[in-house]
Amino acid sequence: MLVQDGVNMSRILAVDDSPDNLFLIETVLDAPEYDLVFAEDGWKALSKITECLPDLVLLDIMMPGMNGYEVTERIRQNDSIPYTPILLLTAHDHVSLVEGLDAGADDFIRKPFDIDELRARVRSLLRMKQAMDAKSYMIQQRDDFVARLTHDLRTPLVAANRMLTFCRNEAFGVVADEAKDAIAETISNNQQLLDMVNTLLEVYRHDAGHKALTFTPFNLYDVASTVVNELTPLAKEKQLTLKLVDQDDNPIMDTSDFEMQGDILEIRRVLTNLIGNAIKFTDQGSVEVQLQRTQTRPSQVPQKENTPECTAWLILKVIDTGIGISQEDRAEIFQWFRQGKQRRSGSGLGLHLSCRIAEMHWGHIDATSEVGRGSTFSLFLPVTVATSD
Ligand code: ADP
Repeated sequence: MLVQDGVNMSRILAVDDSPDNLFLIETVLDAPEYDLVFAEDGWKALSKITECLPDLVLLDIMMPGMNGYEVTERIRQNDSIPYTPILLLTAHDHVSLVEGLDAGADDFIRKPFDIDELRARVRSLLRMKQAMDAKSYMIQQRDDFVARLTHDLRTPLVAANRMLTFCRNEAFGVVADEAKDAIAETISNNQQLLDMVNTLLEVYRHDAGHKALTFTPFNLYDVASTVVNELTPLAKEKQLTLKLVDQDDNPIMDTSDFEMQGDILEIRRVLTNLIGNAIKFTDQGSVEVQLQRTQTRPSQVPQKENTPECTAWLILKVIDTGIGISQEDRAEIFQWFRQGKQRRSGSGLGLHLSCRIAEMHWGHIDATSEVGRGSTFSLFLPVTVATSD
């Protein structure tokens, strides 16, 4: 929306091959709040729309060369054009309105149009455009805010931890043991805050659709094994056994079954979250990571239209003997900032992010649990055709 002499102006592009019709539209919409732009055919309309980014397009259907349906389709297919409402102008007896609406138009009006009706429809579509622009603006502001906030928080936290580490290492003089412990505690708290800020940034990137994944072939067993090795000291601290096995509880000898394609860093993030949670929420017993391969889509995975052709599915189960999750909480824990009643340190973002990552791989995460006995989180990932070739 433009602002001129303090008046909010909406730019309207009118497209019609008949100069008389364009003249009529100009007369009907002659008002200080409208900035009218004209095009006499589809090609000119497409170039004007990218040039002047109108708030609304009034589009005649029957035009020589490119008709209104095709113009509509091309506008909708062009990702660089922000959403612009399209009002189709149609001859009285025209029957293919369905085609126009299906192509992406928002409304239509029959010719010869009633002047008040045309004005009312224009006002209504401009209101819709304003609401959509306001929403995009808010999302943009939110993303900028999160990016700035996370940056502004991260930088001093990293600097503070560096300085505290120097202090603890007595770089500035002798430090009493009690003070060393206090410094270590502060460093650990800062690190937790840093992890949370990093996760928050990742969640926003995913939710805002700004996250681009880098797909490469890798072996899921190798990633699981790395994460298990990394988290073993944490499990040992709690006297839990942590092992990576096949579905029959046996060590995995042949790992060739677990080749897949995906973003290795993101999948590693998911595994770290699932196995890390299992350790966090288990006080005695074990955490078992089971890997298996199956030829068909597991029934827990909802069928998705855009799943690429896949030759098999990999299933990674994280089975713990921990506190479990009530049925009520199970419905919520995948939503962001939801921690369930049995919360321990953390942010409630990990499972939400993990689910998003699984979905971006056309996969799924599922949880079963029994309070007091333990939980099983299953990650399902397809082996896409490109990988198995
Ligand atoms: P966080 O662990 O940081 O709180 P998550 O999104 O990873 O956030 O998990 C959300 C909640 O799900 C946890 O707070 C906890 O209540 C529950 N949860 C996740 N994994 C387990 C598990 N293995 N056992 C019991 N509860 C779990």
